[in-house]
Amino acid sequence: MCDSKALLNCGTRKQSGLQNRVLKEIDEKRDEMTKFLQGLVKIPSVVGYEGAAQRFMQKTFRDLGLEVHVWEPDVAELEKHPAYFKTTSYTKFGYKRRPNVIGRLQGSGGGRSLILAGHIDVVSPEPVSAWTHDPWGAEIVDDKLYGRGAADMKGGIAAMVHAFKCIQATGAKPAGDVIFKSTIEEEDGGIGGTLATILKGYHADAAIITEPTDVYNIEIASSGVMYFGVKVLGESAHAAFAQLGVNAIGKAMKIYNALLKLNNERQSRIRYPPAEVEPATKGHATTINIGKIQGGDWPSTVAGWAELECRIGWPPGEELEDVKKQVEDTIYRVAEEDPWLRENPPRIKWFGWRARPHEQDVNHSIVQTVTEFVKELTGKKAKFIGGSAGLDTRHYVLHGKIPAICLGPHGSGLHSADEYVEIDSVVETAKILALTILDWCGYE
Ligand SMILES: [Zn+2]
Repeated sequence: MCDSKALLNCGTRKQSGLQNRVLKEIDEKRDEMTKFLQGLVKIPSVVGYEGAAQRFMQKTFRDLGLEVHVWEPDVAELEKHPAYFKTTSYTKFGYKRRPNVIGRLQGSGGGRSLILAGHIDVVSPEPVSAWTHDPWGAEIVDDKLYGRGAADMKGGIAAMVHAFKCIQATGAKPAGDVIFKSTIEEEDGGIGGTLATILKGYHADAAIITEPTDVYNIEIASSGVMYFGVKVLGESAHAAFAQLGVNAIGKAMKIYNALLKLNNERQSRIRYPPAEVEPATKGHATTINIGKIQGGDWPSTVAGWAELECRIGWPPGEELEDVKKQVEDTIYRVAEEDPWLRENPPRIKWFGWRARPHEQDVNHSIVQTVTEFVKELTGKKAKFIGGSAGLDTRHYVLHGKIPAICLGPHGSGLHSADEYVEIDSVVETAKILALTILDWCGYE
């Protein structure tokens, strides 16, 4: 990693005096940034409970001197959009006390505009017993800041706030508008979050979401994601006379096995290099995960019902309707081959996530600009990744016609125990963002 002093010697591009001053500020105010991040991580903001953390972000944007806009999503408006689906968190909590927060700097004029965005929601830290650090403690050990959401993605939010603060500290003012967004429910599809902000009219010439990509990876694609459930009915009977009943769990297992077979067949056929950059992800660009299974009543009764809940993810290249049909055909084929299921067909429900995959053209100038600064500041050639998980960038690219990428710090333990973000990498991210703002938006 280059520090700001070494940068003059290791960069590929000659830095201006202003750029060097900003980079110096970023290093010097590192502790301030770390404290900010600790404050944010200490506020639990599990999806559905984003309110308190959003108040923190509202104050942050106000303190930066931005025009601040805070509002709760209006589901009647959202429903009109073709990408709308009822998120599981909306079903459970509604959108009350779950606002989005926007902070907008009106540029001095003549420059390109830029959105810097992050989601404030985090996933549950459960099971907390698996953690060796308090998930809401924001403890720092060896440059690692621990906590739920530290990497995914409050570290990225800290980086963008820090980048902007350090530009301001030099007295420079971006020429293009800079729009900061702190959005809700990304983990659940981003309908009431990022999509709502686009429908509200917060557009720009490009967008960067600071999801944790290890600094030098640029995420240029997201996967399609759908949830589905399969309910099977059996016939209950006393366990002592189980032969008189039909066990729905046994029937559901046939569907379980058929879905695994479909998964294997798809994985052997579907390739998407950006989703397979890491060795562990080779051959897994698409996945069917059977994430929940329940059924039956108690041990003394033959199970009269069983239900599977699954997620299918797939990279760019397949249409949502085609993927849906493959899943349904697989389940109906099982039903045709089983006399009981033929008479009592399984019921399939599609619920929650229903996202198409997307891909950002890597030749776009925002991708090129960020790629250049990654090289300059980390000495590494940026890798293009993505396509195995759903991301809010799809809302920009597909529904806002705004080029968008993800770039953010390095962390570990995302969606699992002992999540952390490396503070050095948050600083590096802030530097890349600061130079990108200056270069992309221009400045006075
Ligand atoms: Zn995230």
